[in-house]
Amino acid sequence: MSTDTIIMDSVPSSLDAYKGESHVATTNACKLCTPLGATIAFKGVEGAIPFLHGSQGCATYMRRYIISHFREPMDIASSSLGEKNAIYGGGPNLKKGLLNAMQKYGAKVVGVATTCLTETIGDDVPRILHEFRAEFGDLPLADIVHVSTPSYSGTHMDGFHGAVKALADQLCVEKTPPNGRVNIMPGLVSPADIRHLKELARAFGIEPIMLPDYSETLDGPALLEYENIPSGGTPVADIRAMGGASASIELGRAITTQETAGSSLESRFGVPLKRLGLPMGIRETDAFFAALKEISGLATPRDLSLERGRYIDALVDGHKYVSGLRAVVYGEEDVVIGLTSFLAEIGVKPVLVATGAKNRNVAPHIRAACGDVLREMPSVREGVDFFDIVEEAKTLAPDILVGHSKGQRAAREWGIPLLRVGFPIHDRFGGQRQLSLGYRGAQALFDRLVNMVLEKKQTDSDIGYGYL
Ligand code: SF4
Repeated sequence: MSTDTIIMDSVPSSLDAYKGESHVATTNACKLCTPLGATIAFKGVEGAIPFLHGSQGCATYMRRYIISHFREPMDIASSSLGEKNAIYGGGPNLKKGLLNAMQKYGAKVVGVATTCLTETIGDDVPRILHEFRAEFGDLPLADIVHVSTPSYSGTHMDGFHGAVKALADQLCVEKTPPNGRVNIMPGLVSPADIRHLKELARAFGIEPIMLPDYSETLDGPALLEYENIPSGGTPVADIRAMGGASASIELGRAITTQETAGSSLESRFGVPLKRLGLPMGIRETDAFFAALKEISGLATPRDLSLERGRYIDALVDGHKYVSGLRAVVYGEEDVVIGLTSFLAEIGVKPVLVATGAKNRNVAPHIRAACGDVLREMPSVREGVDFFDIVEEAKTLAPDILVGHSKGQRAAREWGIPLLRVGFPIHDRFGGQRQLSLGYRGAQALFDRLVNMVLEKKQTDSDIGYGYL
């Protein structure tokens, strides 16, 4: 069952029934299912195949969802449990499925994520995997990494970060010799953003270990021959070497509420961790550049300083079109913090910032990221769905919506533009190539926003006009 549904005991005949104080159901969730996030993270490892321990429908739903954003093949193996397994356990199916994934796909890594079903029946996945390794130890087995991802107690971001931590914990198990590299955990950003982060690190003479790296596996070239497992991804040897890196950079302010790959590498191997916001807009990008400068000891290369300067020049030219606009921002917790910071810097007034995640301290993180340039703190709501967002936004008279494709219905109803950012983007082309990070990403976001506002003005004008 996807989280993009109305979950109630009985379905009322009119949407009016959803109105009122007693709203307790989820109506169009502002989050996705937990193992879905884990499958994206596992897809960023070289030779890996994501594997769902659960029933077939979960894999089908996630594949459809992910493919419509990335527009790449997305094979997800499944233990394909039926009614009997729901009673007697899914161990035999999991073992058979793992062998198939290794033998038919030639997987070097299998990333196993649990689902609502297997979490509810209480399958002991570590024990099943232990038995599997004992039973088939005479075969050349792939590495198996597992993560617990009950969807009723988290979001796709929990699944994503959980899978990244599981990869670091289960593949990087001993201190390796210092290698002078820097671990970068980028969070759930676009393949274009991952490519840009690698480019930025290399511009400072740093060879990053990016975990995960789906910049090629989920945005690859057209090939004459189909690859069972697409090329690209973080090599397992690199993951094993993360304990010898000189530093880790973990992007995302809101992940401070949980144990992460970065904090685990720091506590187990003493790899110093820098935790920064997603580099969206000037100030969060400046902080990322400051970290690269400190780690590398090098100054910012001229080309990148020029990108920053050009962006500021664009703000001078374009601020009059966006200054004072009222924005509703929604989506993943780290993305909404970064977007709010970006919007506050350019004079847009975020009036509501909403996320489906709970207990992520979004309001304090927004204050820390951009409190000094916010004219007024927006209303910040965590653990909400689109019913809540729409109800609250109605009274706030927003001019624009900023978030993923799921706000399209509200934008259409209110006749206001939607700046599509983040995941998923189902109703536009090129979500996987959308750049939002760094000065270059801020420039791209700003250009899109200004043009969106101009287009709306031009369309609404009775007489129309050619110069803006
Ligand atoms: S894991 Fe749970 S929320 Fe996700 S598709 Fe399966 S049943 Fe639905």
